[in-house]
Amino acid sequence: MKTFLNNSSRLGDGGVHMVLIFADQTDGQFKKTAFEALSYGAKLAEQLGTTAEALVLGTPTSDLAALGKYGVKKVHQVATEALNVFDAQVYTKVITEVVQSTGATVLVLAHNNTGRAIAGRLSARLKAAMVPAAVSLPDTTNGFVVKKVVFSGKAFANVSLNTDIKIISLNMNAFKAVAGEGTAEVVSVNVAVDAPKVKVTSTDKVTGEIPLTEATRVVSGGRGLKGPENWGIVEDLAHALDAALACSRPVADANWRPHHEHVGQTGIAIAPNLYVAAGISGAIQHLAGVNRSKVIVVINKDAEAPFFKAADYGVVGDVFEILPKLTEEVKKLKGA
Ligand SMILES: Cc1cc2nc3c(=O)[nH]c(=O)nc-3n(C[C@H](O)[C@H](O)[C@H](O)COP(=O)(O)OP(=O)(O)OC[C@H]3O[C@@H](n4cnc5c(N)ncnc54)[C@H](O)[C@@H]3O)c2cc1C
Repeated sequence: MKTFLNNSSRLGDGGVHMVLIFADQTDGQFKKTAFEALSYGAKLAEQLGTTAEALVLGTPTSDLAALGKYGVKKVHQVATEALNVFDAQVYTKVITEVVQSTGATVLVLAHNNTGRAIAGRLSARLKAAMVPAAVSLPDTTNGFVVKKVVFSGKAFANVSLNTDIKIISLNMNAFKAVAGEGTAEVVSVNVAVDAPKVKVTSTDKVTGEIPLTEATRVVSGGRGLKGPENWGIVEDLAHALDAALACSRPVADANWRPHHEHVGQTGIAIAPNLYVAAGISGAIQHLAGVNRSKVIVVINKDAEAPFFKAADYGVVGDVFEILPKLTEEVKKLKGA
């Protein structure tokens, strides 16, 4: 099963390459980040003049052949039920074996919780250079150079990858998922799956909400909301916009909101199309987690609040007046 690549597969020497994209699933469904990674991998394969193939672990209920819409020709499936539950060590071993057996020279995965947990391990196992949080396609005109975010999104670095196998972990929302035509051939791969060393005894799932990392729109509240009893106006706007809820760290620390909503340097980093910040000052640690949002709207009664410098649109005003008015207007627009 284990076939180590020799130097004839080195990118740039004219050898045959393949881009393998790990499409991760949760509860049987592929997420937006998987479609972004597939589209990115397919585009990269086109750029390198090679093919893109997908890797799926477990037995998702989604149609695997339909992943062909994102440009992959083949889907390798390790259809072992145990893989429906994520385990970093088990996943690393299985993916390593598939990369080696398929002869893939580039592995693409999403920079989400799963990707973050396994990309470094895969890099060590495969002796492959790895770029976490890549934001664009590699420049392959002279080597293989990938742009990534550094310093909590404050700057970019161009990283040159020189190993035979290369791993790219793609930042969320950095590359648009493009669905076209086509179906992929689904092939079953046999890999011995070890029993996990870590036993999960219970899982607490957040239900009925749009997960923050998947959301294209986010409405977030800070200490300016004064207390948890006032969150109704934040929730109303979020519902009207079909947005996920977020908050600043002190809000989560004070138990006004659950910790899974806390965004920033020490919380979740997000990059939605729209980020509405209500009553948040815009401290650097907060901005670190949200400054990759495409459009930032800030509502703050203090015209000197630092967040306004990062805002695309700003409203100087009281959240208790502005939020209900915004919600009304959004509802009117949706009803129109
Ligand atoms: C190591 C470290 C890591 C950190 N990590 C994070 C992190 O990940 N995420 C994070 O968020 N913070 C983080 N922080 C904390 C960060 O420095 C700020 O303290 C925090 O972001 C401030 O939260 P806030 O904006 O909600 O509150 P405040 O700074 O108190 O700001 C409240 C804002 O609301 C405005 N306001 C008040 N009343 C109204 C009203 N009625 N209408 C409109 N506006 C109003 C005020 O003008 C003010 O600008 C970190 C700090 C450290 C030291």
